[in-house]
Amino acid sequence: MRYLSTRGHPDRRRFCDILLEGLAPDGGLYLPEQYPKVDAATLQKWRGLSYAELAFEVLSLYVDDIPAADLKALCARTYTAEVFGSDEIVPLRELEDGVYLEALSNGPTLAFKDMAMQLLGNLFEYELNRRGEQLNILGATSGDTGSAAEYAMRGKKGVRVFMTSPDGRMSPFQQAQMFSLQDANIHNIAISGVFDDCQDIVKAVSNDLGFKRKYKIGTVNSINWARLLAQVVYYFAGYFQATASNDKQVSFTVPSGNFGNVCAGHVARMMGLPIRTLVVATNENDVLDEFFRTGVYRVRAAADTHETSSPSMDISKASNFERFVFDLVGRDGAKTRALFEGELGRAGRFDLSGDPVFAEAAKRFGFASSRSTHADRLATIRDTDKRFATLIDTHTADGLKAAREHLVAGVPMIVLETALPIKFAETIVEALGHEPERPARFEGIEALPKRVVKLPADAEAVKAYIAQHCDD
Ligand SMILES: *Cc1c(COP(=O)(O)O)cnc(C)c1O
Repeated sequence: MRYLSTRGHPDRRRFCDILLEGLAPDGGLYLPEQYPKVDAATLQKWRGLSYAELAFEVLSLYVDDIPAADLKALCARTYTAEVFGSDEIVPLRELEDGVYLEALSNGPTLAFKDMAMQLLGNLFEYELNRRGEQLNILGATSGDTGSAAEYAMRGKKGVRVFMTSPDGRMSPFQQAQMFSLQDANIHNIAISGVFDDCQDIVKAVSNDLGFKRKYKIGTVNSINWARLLAQVVYYFAGYFQATASNDKQVSFTVPSGNFGNVCAGHVARMMGLPIRTLVVATNENDVLDEFFRTGVYRVRAAADTHETSSPSMDISKASNFERFVFDLVGRDGAKTRALFEGELGRAGRFDLSGDPVFAEAAKRFGFASSRSTHADRLATIRDTDKRFATLIDTHTADGLKAAREHLVAGVPMIVLETALPIKFAETIVEALGHEPERPARFEGIEALPKRVVKLPADAEAVKAYIAQHCDD
């Protein structure tokens, strides 16, 4: 399997090359040259597998530069009951007739990002060791991504993490999760500023090519193909749990921000998994809902990005969306480039409403969408607690509300649970009047010693810190 760029660059790369890279050289995103098709016999064979075995089977179709035995061992080491809390790894439970929740957030940091990041940590360690190289991961986080990356990379050989976050702006629980890590290869940097300042610093450092090369700076952001591929696996695992045989269709609803999670669902569907509809659920930041309703993709300015109670979906521009659009326009790299570099660069929007391909988003690719508000989240959390004695987080609430707007009789609807309620306790208290339950291993973490340095919102200060801490 070789990988190409969504913007038409002629190079074809292998999996381990793009594993450690961000964007393609022409600014596009990497995708496989074609999606491997899974036939009925293979689907039947996969149905009985453990999660780790299933992950190996899916990854094998896309990875041909890691020996099979090694890849199998990496999957087995990643997806264990010790790390993810159950043998199923992503247990499914029926909430009401035909509506299911697939639990993706029982990993180390209680959000679905662990599903991919844990594998990425093991893949990075493996590949860096094989090359005799080191990598310094520089990131910016407002919460979930930073902690998932740190818990995945802690103690890994050859990898250091420098994670910037806005000083004092994460929830006390999120701060405690990250800052209580005592591993020498994890560096928390609290920036006096907001999340955008952190992102600007990461951009400034990455644009200093001399520094980037000298200090081997890398990233783990959601455009990484390996992260997306790891997420394809739980669509298969959810399907097998919701159905008794492979002639059945299911639908998925996915709380969405950067379009990474639901893009993995799109890949699973392209491989032949019988998915009828992929429902994209957004909050008040409805860039994606607007596109699927109208055909207009209009990125928002930072000032027009709302701070909501499902903060991990507060995005103004969906960084993985280009992957889907590439497929939508018939894998035409020149057309994708014209949309994302040309029109989007010039006008901050593009409009496919008059293009015949837009109808295919729903018809051929099965996409639908919905949007919700803070009031909807509170109502859904209360209703789910009252009727089903089940506590869901704010992002999953966005999903459940959207799912109900797209139910079809006889087609199971699987809502992806993307985080546990304890991460967003403030809104749970607002909805229910009491704190959500806290897993035992997080009891009292706010009181643990914190390992964090404070730096001004200045890329030079961050560079100096990285340079100083690269030889230990
Ligand atoms: C990251 C995140 C999302 C959004 O996922 P995308 O892949 O960016 O669409 C949704 N919910 C939670 C809890 C998250 O952490």
